[in-house]
Amino acid sequence: MPLARFVNTFAGNPLDRAADRRADPDWIADQRAHPDALAIAMWRGEALVEPAPDGERLAYLQLGMAEEAAGAEPLFLGLWKDAPVFAVEFTGGDPTASALAGLGRFQEMRGAGMMLPGAESAMAATAKSLIDWHEFHGFCARCGQPSAPTDGGWKRICPACRTEHFPRVNPVTIMLPTFQGRALLGRQAAWPNGRMSALAGFLEPGESIEEACAREIREEAGLTTTRVAYHSSQPWPFPSNLMIGLIAEVSDDDAQPDQTELEAVRWFTREEMAKVVADDRRGWDGVLPPPRLAIARTLIEAWIAGFEA
Ligand SMILES: [Zn+2]
Repeated sequence: MPLARFVNTFAGNPLDRAADRRADPDWIADQRAHPDALAIAMWRGEALVEPAPDGERLAYLQLGMAEEAAGAEPLFLGLWKDAPVFAVEFTGGDPTASALAGLGRFQEMRGAGMMLPGAESAMAATAKSLIDWHEFHGFCARCGQPSAPTDGGWKRICPACRTEHFPRVNPVTIMLPTFQGRALLGRQAAWPNGRMSALAGFLEPGESIEEACAREIREEAGLTTTRVAYHSSQPWPFPSNLMIGLIAEVSDDDAQPDQTELEAVRWFTREEMAKVVADDRRGWDGVLPPPRLAIARTLIEAWIAGFEA
C-alpha cells in the first residue's frame, strides 16, 4: 500500500530520527547547543500543550530553559527541518504550578491523540514510550548493574558487562474476524457499557503474525482462521506497543466468548456496522464503537468500505 494511505493516530511522526548520526556524542552535544533546539516537556506520561486558534497544540520550549527547569538529560527525538527536537521529562509536582507556570497544561496521551494534530500526537507518543523505557530499564537485564543511556537516549549500555539494550516495542495483533459478509466484535467486561471492539493479543516468541492472529481468534472466540490480511499498524504508547491491524476470515460463525478475556461476541453485517460507527456517543442497538483514535476503528471502517481478508 502507499506509505501515507493509512495513518493511524500516533503514527506519522514527521521527525528525522537521524539514526545514522545520533550515536556520535559530539553530534548530540552540537544538537543540544543548537540555538533553535526545542523541547517537548513531559510529566507523568503527559505532554505540555498550549491553546491554539483551533484547539490546542504542543507547547515547544527552548531546550536550554527546559533542561534547566527539569534538571534532566534530554532525549533526542529527531530533526524538524534543521531544528533538533528533544523530549525533557519533568518529575515531582506539577511543573505548570512552578517552573512552567503560564506556559500551558499537561495533557494525558489518549486525549492528546484525539485533540492534537496527528504529527504532534505522534511525536508526543514517541517521547512517552522512550521515557517509559528508560524508567523501567535502569538496570542491565543480563548482570543487574545500573545501565547508562547513550545515543541521544536510543540505547542503554551496561558499564559492567558492556551489553547494549535497545528500546522495546511489544507487538500486538488486533483483528476483525469475518465470515460471509459479517464481522465479529467482542466485549471485555471492564469496558464502558455497550463498547464492543476488535479482538487482540500480544505476539509470543516463535509466532508469526498470522499464527498469533489465529491463536487469539481461537482462544477468545473459538473460531478457526482460514485467511489473514494485513491492513495497517499503530504505535500505541501504553507503554510501547505496536498494534498490527488485521482482517481475518474464519471457517464458520459459531463464535463463543471465552468468558475470561471476552464476556460477549456479536456478528454484524456491513449495514449494521455502519450504523454502529455512525454515532460515537449512542452507537446502534446498544453497541458503542471503539474510539476514533483506536486502530480497531480503522479496521472496522476499512471492512465497511470493502477491505477483505
Ligand atoms: Zn550488564
